[in-house]
Amino acid sequence: MAQRSDEVKAVEQVDKRLMVGGRWRDASGGATFAVEDPSTGEALCEVADASREDAFAALDAAAGAQASWAARAPRERGEILRRGFEILMERQDELALLMTLEMGKPLAEARGEIAYAAEFLRWFSEEAVRVSGGYATSPDGKSRFLIMKRPVGPSMLITPWNFPMAMGTRKIGPAVAAGCTMVLKPAQQTPLCALALAGILEEAGLPEGVLSVLPTTDPGGVTEPLLRDGRIRKVSFTGSTGVGRTLLEQSSEQVLRTSMELGGNAPFLVFGDADLDAAVEGAMQAKMRNIGEACTAANRFYVHESVAAEFSRRLGERMGALSVGRGTEDGVQVGPLIDARAREKVQRLVDDAVGRGARVVVGGEAAEGPGYFYRPTVLENVSQESDMYATEIFGPVAPVSVFSTDDEALSAANDTEYGLVSYVYTSDVTRALRVSEALETGMVGLNQGIVSNPAAPFGGVKHSGLGREGGTVGIEEFLDTKYVGIGGL
Ligand code: NAD
Repeated sequence: MAQRSDEVKAVEQVDKRLMVGGRWRDASGGATFAVEDPSTGEALCEVADASREDAFAALDAAAGAQASWAARAPRERGEILRRGFEILMERQDELALLMTLEMGKPLAEARGEIAYAAEFLRWFSEEAVRVSGGYATSPDGKSRFLIMKRPVGPSMLITPWNFPMAMGTRKIGPAVAAGCTMVLKPAQQTPLCALALAGILEEAGLPEGVLSVLPTTDPGGVTEPLLRDGRIRKVSFTGSTGVGRTLLEQSSEQVLRTSMELGGNAPFLVFGDADLDAAVEGAMQAKMRNIGEACTAANRFYVHESVAAEFSRRLGERMGALSVGRGTEDGVQVGPLIDARAREKVQRLVDDAVGRGARVVVGGEAAEGPGYFYRPTVLENVSQESDMYATEIFGPVAPVSVFSTDDEALSAANDTEYGLVSYVYTSDVTRALRVSEALETGMVGLNQGIVSNPAAPFGGVKHSGLGREGGTVGIEEFLDTKYVGIGGL
């Protein structure tokens, strides 16, 4: 269990001012805002509140530093990322505590996220030196093609609160590797991890002006003028589909490159031939990672009629045994939701499903405490018409429905505008491949409940977004392809 003095130290160590063009400073108007601990509802500290003027100062710095940053040796940029990876891992415990305090997830999960976040820096430190082009003969043999990769240019990075460190490094890693300068706007709920990360990258040797960090209570007021300015050339966003759509509209004016990691509505399919122990274990991971507050969270469970009752019973037992509480306490497995609004939404979705005939196997209500706790919940006999099947629950609620045929399962799974990830449990190889091909999602977890991996291409189709982060394609999001046609040979 974290001591109160450790908590105070973890928060005190972070510089709570803006990082603009290599300088830490107060917001131009001197404004600040409170960061809240969702497990108590109390303020942890005040953080500088960036204004439009600060945003332009950050853009001036990013635009000014772009040419010299792009000219740095790839190895040098890679080594800055590598040092960043090492510092994150050296400070894993104190950074995890900081994350638990501002976001709520239990310490063990926060430590896991620090390692996951650090791994993006290590992966892209290795990718920085692998960017390459090509040389080819034209089909008529009369000219040559020289193909080179160039950094896209100053990039706007916008991140959500649910993975406050990893969503930052998943963008900063490839942007640094590619040679882009950056303006990062973290979520208002979790600015401390982003500020801590900026301090670590500064320590790792990131030159002045390459990264600015702008916490703010006015996200649109800070980002929109920059997207319309013309000097920003790229926006990389992780967050809800609604905000993503707004940013796409704004990006159209200057025809920006865009990467959009948006919402999900993951189906979790359990076929009659599945290893049920593995399916329940995978369900726990896919549902309960991050308290259910993940874009990859299993949102709808479709289980074959031959095993559905047994699956719901076992999942209910496991969910009911989880310990709910403040993430800093020993043994706690489920922390609070991010705020009161999130908890009200979860309750509304549960009430709607129950009103349409769902049965509560376990949970179904808020848990005690001053924070925003909700009991791990399993519902069975959930109607496909329920609101929770059309929207992200973003909480610890597992709704289970029954299917009879593979076609029925697939059509229910694909009946959503989202397309981020799906999960499939079966022991039949042919079925596994047929279903994986037919699912309309960018990723599939086949007999596994977690797909996120810095070395793999993460991203969705349909309303879940555009582009991929991580893997060997991740750096491409921050690179342009340039071709030189060579004649006279
Ligand atoms: P959100 O869309 O409300 O906010 C995301 C970010 O956008 C925050 O930094 C916020 O301040 C900013 N923002 C809000 N309005 C803005 C505006 N008008 N202009 C510019 N920026 C604006 O999402 P959230 O509640 O922070 O995060 C949860 C959402 O993120 C869920 O939908 C989840 O699925 C999604 N998410 C997706 C992925 C993925 O990789 N696909 C990963 C994590 C979270």
